[in-house]
Amino acid sequence: MVFCCICDTANYDICIYLISDLFLERHFFMTEKTIFEKILHGEIPCKPLYEDEYTLAFHDINPQAPVHILVIPKRKIINVANSNESDIEQMGRVLFTAKKVAEISGIAKTGYRLIINNGDDGGQTVYYMHCHILGGRYLSWPPG
Ligand code: 5GP
Repeated sequence: MVFCCICDTANYDICIYLISDLFLERHFFMTEKTIFEKILHGEIPCKPLYEDEYTLAFHDINPQAPVHILVIPKRKIINVANSNESDIEQMGRVLFTAKKVAEISGIAKTGYRLIINNGDDGGQTVYYMHCHILGGRYLSWPPG
């Protein structure tokens, strides 16, 4: 089944983005749900930490620090490079949720790092925009 990567419908008749050439390519290149869409839709489990109307935060399955949490927007954005003006609020909400998550997980005072990998060279493996929150230890710089 092919899902629209923007409005998340499998029905082309009701996909509003199909009418726009700009989004046509994105629509047809998305052949299956990403792992984060499956998490969002309750199809696979996660360890949630925070949820609101716009975002979901859950523990990374392969933590790279004592605290490693992912924040995703509930409305899909593939990555920063594929964002547009209609994504501005979602993207801001992701960062504000990251701030809340840092407070909830007790790393706000000691510091933390927010990472948004973009594209293959940026190390993005899941093509559903997400913000990593890493903390609980000193994080060296520059990253690898
Ligand atoms: P990226 O490399 O795209 O920036 O980050 C993807 C992240 O998703 C990785 O840190 C990876 O460990 C995490 N991840 C991949 N699959 C799952 C999963 O099924 N559940 C959770 N909670 N995290 C996942």
